[in-house]
Amino acid sequence: MTPEPTPRIGVLAIQGDYAAHASALADSGAQPVEVRRPDQLAGLDALVLPGGESTTILLFLEKLNFFAELGQFCASHPVFGTCAGAILLAREVLNPSQRSLGLLDAVVERNAYGRQIDSAILTAETALSGGPLEMVFIRAPRILEVGPEVEVLARRDGFPVLVRQGRILAATFHPELSADHRVHKLFVQSVTAPRP
Ligand code: GLN
Repeated sequence: MTPEPTPRIGVLAIQGDYAAHASALADSGAQPVEVRRPDQLAGLDALVLPGGESTTILLFLEKLNFFAELGQFCASHPVFGTCAGAILLAREVLNPSQRSLGLLDAVVERNAYGRQIDSAILTAETALSGGPLEMVFIRAPRILEVGPEVEVLARRDGFPVLVRQGRILAATFHPELSADHRVHKLFVQSVTAPRP
């Protein structure tokens, strides 16, 4: 059997915690590549959209003329969005309404958990094997609604927090900040797995 080549996975490195994603990807069997310009997407197998501040990321994407090319790449490759990255992928964003790539059939409310409990670490069972998963929420959005193509892999208070739709994986929490990298491994596996 020939070994799987190491996938080259881009991490959008405009703003936010992209460095933590890069090390979680490296630990999960991928080669991370920081992406700051549209031409850096060439030759990548997949992309991570990190958490941060979605309004700031959007502003830079527009300034760099990067929005359309990013949308094209994400529509045709595996993509993993966490927190602000999940907001960017959503079909509709509320609180307030803002532009998004519209690739994940979900309605997302920004900063939905209120001031008192806007950041929290929960440990709960998910659809992933290997026992309860630590989930770090930082000024997290809430997924209010998902379409029929969206599979929910974890919930918080009944609302989806980890979802998958075809080659899109999205989390409203920050799996890159936990020592347990099962979510990144799931993503890397989806990149290396033969397409059905
Ligand atoms: N509050 C941020 C936003 O609305 C998301 C927070 C995060 O990515 N940790 O974009």
